[in-house]
Amino acid sequence: MRALLDLVLPAECGGCSAPGLVWCGQCAEVAFGSPRLCNPRSDPGVPVWALTRYRGAARELIVNLKERGRSDLAAVAGAAVVSGIETLRQEGELDPAQLAHLLLVPAPSRWLAARRRGGDPIASIAAHAIRTLPDEAASVVKALRFTRGVKDSVGLTASQRHLNVAGRVRMRQRFASQLLPSLSRPASAVLLLDDVVTTGSLLTESVRILHCAGVRVSGALTLASA
Ligand SMILES: [Zn+2]
Repeated sequence: MRALLDLVLPAECGGCSAPGLVWCGQCAEVAFGSPRLCNPRSDPGVPVWALTRYRGAARELIVNLKERGRSDLAAVAGAAVVSGIETLRQEGELDPAQLAHLLLVPAPSRWLAARRRGGDPIASIAAHAIRTLPDEAASVVKALRFTRGVKDSVGLTASQRHLNVAGRVRMRQRFASQLLPSLSRPASAVLLLDDVVTTGSLLTESVRILHCAGVRVSGALTLASA
């Protein structure tokens, strides 16, 4: 349906609704910046970075992507992620491509509705990021999934958010082997990816599950912090 609409309707900026482009120059300038360390209430025990605050054009982009089926914006978000990864490498927070194979692990997706509309948005952002990264040594590993019963976290309090995800993240065993390089070689960087960090509950649970499986996590990169 969206593809059909795209043929009839002109593009609209995913950040400010200006007509003409999927992502206008002004939004490109202001929406995302360099990764900034966050201190979520729930500490996953690894660094958590966000590219901006959850407001303005970045917030619009995320809402459009996950709630309004604007899958064309995954490439925009993916480019912001790539820029963030490059900065983290320059700052020595992540090993450079020559030294470490980057394994990007999307946080498990809560948006059943978005998935029905054409895919898991975080996995899609990760896929775009990997395609744009100049190095060959990078891949997406969709290693995490939710068990049944996880609600959309919008509108939940901090303790409800925690209860919502506690014990509900699982490893997808068929992907676990792809994370084995992080066990056998120090030369791989496992980076969790999510759109918005709020309480940090989901990142904490995700890191815990990966650690239990023996996977070393370098950090978590998010588009925005709430
Ligand atoms: Zn715009």
